[in-house]
Formats: sequence, C-alpha cells, structure tokens
Amino acid sequence: MVKISEILKISPKKQNIVTKGWIKTFRGNRFISINDGSTINNLQCVIDFNSQNQELLKKLTTGTSIKIEGVLVKSIGKGQSIEVMVKKLFIYGESDPENFPIQPKKHSLEFLREKAHLRIRTSTFSSIMRIRSSLSFAIHKFFNDKGFFHVHTPIITGIDAEGAGEMFRVSALEFNKSNFNKKGELKSSNDFFGKETHLTVSGQLEAETLAMGLGNVYTFGPTFRAENSNTSRHLAEFWMIEPEMAFCDLNGNMDLSEEFIKYILKYILLNCIEDLNFLNQRFLNEEKSKPKNERSEMNLIEKINFVIKNKFIRINYDEAIKILKSSKPNKKKKFKFIISEWGTDLQSEHERYLVEKHFKSPVIIYDYPSKIKAFYMRQNDDEKTVRAMDVLFPGIGEIAGGSQREERLEKLQKRMKEMKIDSDELWWYLDLRRFGTVPHSGFGLGFERLILFATGMNNIRDVIPYPRTPQNASF
Ligand code: ATP
Ligand code: MN
Repeated sequence: MVKISEILKISPKKQNIVTKGWIKTFRGNRFISINDGSTINNLQCVIDFNSQNQELLKKLTTGTSIKIEGVLVKSIGKGQSIEVMVKKLFIYGESDPENFPIQPKKHSLEFLREKAHLRIRTSTFSSIMRIRSSLSFAIHKFFNDKGFFHVHTPIITGIDAEGAGEMFRVSALEFNKSNFNKKGELKSSNDFFGKETHLTVSGQLEAETLAMGLGNVYTFGPTFRAENSNTSRHLAEFWMIEPEMAFCDLNGNMDLSEEFIKYILKYILLNCIEDLNFLNQRFLNEEKSKPKNERSEMNLIEKINFVIKNKFIRINYDEAIKILKSSKPNKKKKFKFIISEWGTDLQSEHERYLVEKHFKSPVIIYDYPSKIKAFYMRQNDDEKTVRAMDVLFPGIGEIAGGSQREERLEKLQKRMKEMKIDSDELWWYLDLRRFGTVPHSGFGLGFERLILFATGMNNIRDVIPYPRTPQNASF
C-alpha cells in the first residue's frame, strides 16, 4: 500500500495501485475523493457506474473508510492531474450521513471543539497537526545538530517553588475524613510520596542541574498550570521547550532564542508548504470578515517570512516603559491596564502594541524589574532589575520567557529569603552554586503559542488535539 502523498507524485502510466483512506466526498455516483492523512490533497478515484453494485454505492458517504484497487491514469477533469480508475473496492467501515458531524461544508471552530475526536478528519485540523509534528521534529533536529542533549525532567514534582504559577496537586489519597487532620488539611505524610506533590509547571530547575554536567541540554515535555485564565493563549496542559546552557550569558540566550525560532519556521516553510498554503487561504478568508482597520497587513506566509528575515528588536524594560507611557493608547486610556509607573508588569496588550504597532517586528525585552520576576534570575548591579528576557510576537504577545540564572550563592540565598522561598527544599539547587558554579542561561518556549503563530489560528484550543482548560477535560 502506498500513501496518497506518494501516489500524487507518480507520473501515471496505468500502474496498479492499492490505497486506503476515508471518503471526503462522493459526487455524481462516480467520483470518490479520498484522504488518508498523509497530505492535505485528496486522491480522486473514479468508479465505473455499471460495473459496481448499487447497494455498495449507497454506502459510499463522507467518512466511510475504504480500500481501493485500480490503475493510475491522467485525469482529464479539473482540479487534479491524476486519478485512479477503480477495479475493486472494499469497505472497512460505513459512515452515517445523517449523524456524521464532519460534512463537506464549513464548520465553526467552536462546533469542531465539541467533536474533537473527529475534527482531525477536516483539512484544517489535519494540516495543523501535520505542521505540529513537523515543528516538533525540527525542534529536535535543531538542538541535536547543535550538540544539545535532550533530557527528561520529572512531571511529578515535590518542589512548590518552581515559580511559574498555580499548580495541580497530585495525590493518591482517598478524599475521605480519615486522610484529613483536625484542621481540615490533607495528611500529606500519608500520601504516596510522603509529602505534597504537584504536576510540574516547568522543567527548568532540574534542567539546570543537568546542564551543569552535560553543558547544553533541552527539555520538551508537558507542563501544567492551574491558572484560571480563560484566554485564547492559555492552556492548563501545554508543551514547553526549555533549553539550558552552561557558560552562556543573557546575550547568548537571546541569540539562541532568535536562531531557534527562525530555524524551525524556515523548516516548515520548506517541508509543509502545501498545508501552509491551505491555512494561508483560511487566514485570508478570516481576515476578510474583520473590519478593514483590524486586518493584518501580511498574509500568513508573509508573516512567517517576516520573522525569518528580520532581526528581532532588543530593548530593555526601561525603554519599553518609556515607549508605552508616551504611546497613543496609553494617553487616550485605550489600554485596559494603563502604564503609569516603572515596575508594573506588561500585559499582552502592551506587548502586542510594541510588536505590532511600534516596532512592527518581533521584540525581545530584557532586564525586567526584579519584583515581577522569579527568584532564580541573575541580579543586575542596579539592584532593581534582573537579567530576564521575554520574546514577543505579533498576534500573541509572549512566546518565550527566559533569563540568565543567578549563579552566585550568596546573592541567590538573599533573594530567596526576601521572597520567602524555602531554601531547605531547594538544597540541591543551591548545591549547584557550591560546587563549580558557572554563568548559565535558558528560556522556555510554549509549543502551542508557536503553533498558533505558524498556523495563523487564533485560539490555542485549536492547535492541540485535546485542550485542557478551566471546566473542560473532555476526551
Ligand atoms: P503569560 O504571561 O503569557 O501567562 P508566563 O509569563 O506565565 O506567560 P512563563 O512562565 O515564562 O510564561 O512560561 C514560558 C512560556 O510558556 C511562555 O512564554 C509561553 O509561551 C508559554 N506559556 C505559559 N503559560 C502558558 C499557558 N497557560 N498555556 C500555554 N502556553 C503557556
Ligand atoms: Mn502565565
């Protein structure tokens, strides 16, 4: 059996072929269009009306799974260059035209989210998932080619100071009275691990330990955040890529993030152009329904190329605040959160203003106020800022966040004390600063945020097979 993606490359000379897939459409009792997921393109199969039995024809509806044996010929019809003259047809599983929800017409994304187990049969979702797969491969290839080691950090963590948001509790205890003390607290010492445990929000702290022996490492795994932010950019379960580099400062970190993002976007332009062209068309149709002044100046392919070709603008937090303070939407109080003083955290509306309106380019902001950043970031001499960096993208805001890590034991201990972070629990993390400490840096890039950008989709629920969001864990 040959995949349709391969069949479509063959020059037709009446070769015998066998192919299997699902029916997309069946027209005129003659033309079956089938897809097997290997490509966005369908294979047209032509059945000779007389030679097939009528009962069989009735079963050929959208969604039916079939095997076809036939010969490959040049197509005289419009829309395809080759087709299969069917000799034999076998049905694996009939569909049900009354009830199969994926009909050959436009469905809303909201509707398809309710049918997440079947939406992969649509061109949009199969394209997104093929691109997701290619991006994933490109990520491993990029790091492997650069000599980074792929490491696996724990998913169940005993640290509650990973510093990146609300966590999900992991417990094997029954939720009955005997497992709670008089104060109503769960008796964690009776629990599976003998202590409180959670799902990880980041693999960074453990990745740091591995970088302090392997040099350059990266993780690519699931992370979990119980943040109740029902936005189009947040999932409760998402995948994160986290490189960590020994002997690397913040500049090296910014360089790597830029090189990395450009590499993987270039990779899909080279390897997924048919899917991208399809999604580009979709993107343009969506844009048409928006008011003129809200439409994107570039199409999807142009946006990807724009990121690949342009140097990311790098500015520090001070400069960003100055620009935002004197910006039109700030003065006219158009922002939901008005920027009034140094030290406030930037919201996605501010990040997008800088990227989309002011610079019209991806932007990296660095040297953030220490107050709004995690304890492990390297402190600057001004004693106000830390060596943090956020990579900001059009349409999305923050796509990656990272820092140079504090490698000086005393400085780190002092900061942890100020932030009331339990240093007993992180004794091993502090040990890294006791035994051969080195400057080191890394960042975390949200995989689904990247896919949002690469596919031109608007909602993060549409770029992962089964989104986990507040009040929703179906499938
Ligand atoms: P945000 O401010 O957008 O919530 P964050 O500051 O919490 O992001 P980090 O803790 O720096 O993010 O996480 C690193 C990266 O992981 C982010 O840059 C983003 O790409 C991604 N990310 C963070 N939270 C989520 C989420 N809930 N769903 C999907 N991706 C996320
Ligand atoms: Mn967050």
